[in-house]
Amino acid sequence: MLPREVVEATASAVLDYQGMGLSLMELSHRSAEFKPILEEARSLLRELLDVPQGYEVLFLGGGASMHFCMVPFNFLKSKAAYLNTGTWASKAMKEAKLFGEVVEVASSADKNFNYIPKGFEIPADADYLHVTSNNTIYGTQLHSDLDSPVPLIADMSSDILSRRVDVSKYNCIYGGAQKNLAQSGLSFVIVKESALGRVERTIPSILDYSVHIANGSMFNTPPTLPIYTALCNLRWVKEQGGVAEMERRALQRAETLYGEIDANKMFCATVDGEDRSYMNIDFVMAPGYEELEQSFVEYCASRGVVAITGHRSVGGFRASCYNAMPLEGVEALVDCMRSFAKR
Ligand code: PMP
Repeated sequence: MLPREVVEATASAVLDYQGMGLSLMELSHRSAEFKPILEEARSLLRELLDVPQGYEVLFLGGGASMHFCMVPFNFLKSKAAYLNTGTWASKAMKEAKLFGEVVEVASSADKNFNYIPKGFEIPADADYLHVTSNNTIYGTQLHSDLDSPVPLIADMSSDILSRRVDVSKYNCIYGGAQKNLAQSGLSFVIVKESALGRVERTIPSILDYSVHIANGSMFNTPPTLPIYTALCNLRWVKEQGGVAEMERRALQRAETLYGEIDANKMFCATVDGEDRSYMNIDFVMAPGYEELEQSFVEYCASRGVVAITGHRSVGGFRASCYNAMPLEGVEALVDCMRSFAKR
């Protein structure tokens, strides 16, 4: 979900950008109109996440999966550590194996990734530890930045801007824009400049973070319209009170929905306790009620609550509660759960 005003601002820019009689889609990325859009988006992401000096913010085409490859290309000298918390973490790890030794420090595959492993050892000679801060499919989340003897690198595709982050613990934070930032086709990267340039291999220019930094995130034509949407959304986050406010709302939504899941005898959560995601809330029909799954989906749809079907790897339901989801949206789902149980 994106804020309605962000969708409307994008639609309006598609039709006529600032009364120019031209669509934003028709403007050059080198034009006097587009350059300030990119610069404001980069500086707002920096401001909202309190990105320290020495880091650069990039908006690049492609999704998070592109960075599964770019991260080891740019940062893996000989050995990297990966925490395996689900499908996306596994895919990131698979790419890294093309570039050097990869240590899986821990995995929650034994329980269909319904928890975040704890107390694992991190090799002190690893170039970085890669984590997936929010596991979109399985509904688990790292609610704080890990303490690690080596720099962290994180895929924050599905929880960027929903919680405060200590960026100084990371060499790189990246993600696809299509959850909390904009539409698909765009990715964001926050990268520590001094951590670059240490690998021996030759990196193709388009996959080299240093090249993108040197070109001000304009090495090639960036996805201009998604960057505009990202800018509108970043302005919205700032107006609403910034990341601290997004964090407060996320917690409120999560408490409301998990509270109902735990209290309602027809449903149960797939994740327990502190590992529960505030962004993707997974739940299933409680034992004995499984055959009512489809009826519940239809019941919700008849009351305007849509897109709650769980990912096929988990089944049941997934309520994605990204930044723009108002509490009323969660309350509408809770009402459905209560009245369905009553009926
Ligand atoms: N990482 C996470 C955490 C995701 O949720 C997703 C997409 N759902 C991806 C990576 C893959 O992103 P993309 O399709 O943009 O490559």
